[in-house]
Amino acid sequence: MKVTPQDIVYLDNNATTPVAPEVFEAMRPFLTDFWGNPSSAYRFGSQIHAKVEEAREKVASLLGADPKEIFFTSCGTESDNAAIHSAIETTGKKKIVTTAVEHAAIINQCEQLQKKGYEVVFLPVREDGTLDVAEAAKAVDEQTAICSVMWANNETGVLFPVEEIADLCKRRGVLFHTDAVQAVGKIPLCLKENKVDMLSLVGHKLHAPKGVGALYLRRRTRFAPTVIGGHQEKGKRGGTENVASIVGFGRACELAAQRMTEENLRVRALRDRLENEILARIPDVYVNGRRDLRLPNTMNAAFDFVEAEAVLLLLDKANICASSGSACTTGSLDPSHVLKAMGLSAARARGAIRFSFSIYNSDRDVDRVLEVLPGIIRRLREISPLHHGHRDNENYDVESARAKFAQEQAEKAESEITAA
Ligand SMILES: *Cc1c(COP(=O)(O)O)cnc(C)c1O
Repeated sequence: MKVTPQDIVYLDNNATTPVAPEVFEAMRPFLTDFWGNPSSAYRFGSQIHAKVEEAREKVASLLGADPKEIFFTSCGTESDNAAIHSAIETTGKKKIVTTAVEHAAIINQCEQLQKKGYEVVFLPVREDGTLDVAEAAKAVDEQTAICSVMWANNETGVLFPVEEIADLCKRRGVLFHTDAVQAVGKIPLCLKENKVDMLSLVGHKLHAPKGVGALYLRRRTRFAPTVIGGHQEKGKRGGTENVASIVGFGRACELAAQRMTEENLRVRALRDRLENEILARIPDVYVNGRRDLRLPNTMNAAFDFVEAEAVLLLLDKANICASSGSACTTGSLDPSHVLKAMGLSAARARGAIRFSFSIYNSDRDVDRVLEVLPGIIRRLREISPLHHGHRDNENYDVESARAKFAQEQAEKAESEITAA
């Protein structure tokens, strides 16, 4: 049985977004009639080159950058990896400063570099998920090859003081990179006005298709490519251009710029309404991340005495798509590294659900969640021995009972998923 987009309420836009119809229309000619190679000398190919350059201008414009500073890649992960790789190659230095709450694209690359002998500092965050610039100031020094701090966290939506840290790095002569995958298209950015050296973004988080991303590289920043081949992207990224997707990416950036203010207000209002209603209707719920310093589209809340995986399974049965933290860690029983870094107990972190909105959501979607979620939480709490123990006995050891119950509940949910 297939689940179609008509059936679902999609509230997992930080994992991926639907392709905008306007984007698909912009791409269509390059998947049908105009399939030439942009590097070819004859017009049937070279005319395509102009379209790639137009897309580059649109991406640059959304970022407040120069088109010469934009290089297309295949995904956000590639852009992140390329930035770190280039910094250690061009500087020859052995220290990397990043945060404890980055996406797997940065965290796992840095952990691998650690095994190879690099020193990596993972900056801590506060309980509300925010980052103190003073922590970066303590860590960034002349041995540092690069400091990489995400602009907005994908799990909580919390925004980081990226421009201040970029200034600090500039003063100390250290390269600064930001994973802005979640920020681009949701909040206004202007790279002409800050000191960011490199920035990662990806199409599929802003209504372009999967398989295309970009790296912003400030003019005159030295760069050592990872994907080495032809002269495409001025030698910074070999491989024949993913023309249709690049054109779609450009169109998506153009749309994002046009829709940012208007949709920000509406999307933010939807998110706030869902969050406030959940807090009003369901007891023992905690919002993760500082509420007034977040992306407008993201909410993350911990529901005590339930397992997120069980909640998601029941939401899925009601055709509602949400997530527990990052899509990349779904299926693992480990609590989110982001929530752990914020100091949540493992038990509370395992009850955390993320709802992330886009311009294609409406009040009906919020209504639908509010129709089913309170009942789901109530039902799961009714069968939760934790909840009973908690109610009946003050000295009940919630943490250890929870850990045991979490395992059982998740295993049960997993076997149900496998059976379905
Ligand atoms: C989605 C995401 C990525 C990775 O993008 P891919 O296209 O999956 O490679 C990197 N960083 C953040 C913050 C993300 O949300």
